[in-house]
Amino acid sequence: MQAIAEDRIRLTGEKKFCDEITALSGQPVISCYQCGECTAGCPVAFTADIMPNQVTRMVQVGLEEPVLRSRMIWLCVGCETCTTRCPRGIELAKVMDALRETAVARKIKPSEPSISTFHKTFLDSVERMGRVHEITMLAEYKLRSGKLFSDLLLGARMFLKGKLALIPEFLKGRSDIKKIFNKTFGK
Ligand code: SF4
Ligand code: SF4
Repeated sequence: MQAIAEDRIRLTGEKKFCDEITALSGQPVISCYQCGECTAGCPVAFTADIMPNQVTRMVQVGLEEPVLRSRMIWLCVGCETCTTRCPRGIELAKVMDALRETAVARKIKPSEPSISTFHKTFLDSVERMGRVHEITMLAEYKLRSGKLFSDLLLGARMFLKGKLALIPEFLKGRSDIKKIFNKTFGK
């Protein structure tokens, strides 16, 4: 079955995108045989535009634009439920990561801008301090996203319960973390 799928993709000349995502994610996307187990267990499938099994199929047949513009690749929370269910051992969260990275590299506007902004703000916080400082990260996220007044009560409750530290903690070895960022993002 896998050989037939590979031959079809070669015939239609769409193997390049599948190879690219396979290399980036380290996952054998071509071996997906559409059983749907990933979709059946995915906690965000109910709100997504395309299902996780459709993501792998679209990668296999080279439907680059629709999959890179989909909401699903940004909604995936990396819970790995799909991985535990997949009979082919595909780690779909890594495939979603690879698709997000590819979408960003190709400057495709994310279909879930607030999630993309949250990712960036989270990483900026880790790069600066070696770990996330929730209060500064949330303030920065609100400024960048324009969602100034959302979740204010929740934030206040968390602060009063001591879940949010006021003073940031700067970790030792931040220069090593900086080097990882530099290497990853080619700065
Ligand atoms: S890792 Fe992503 S695709 Fe897989 S079940 Fe979780 S949310 Fe769904
Ligand atoms: S569970 Fe695995 S084989 Fe089944 S559809 Fe999902 S990715 Fe494909």
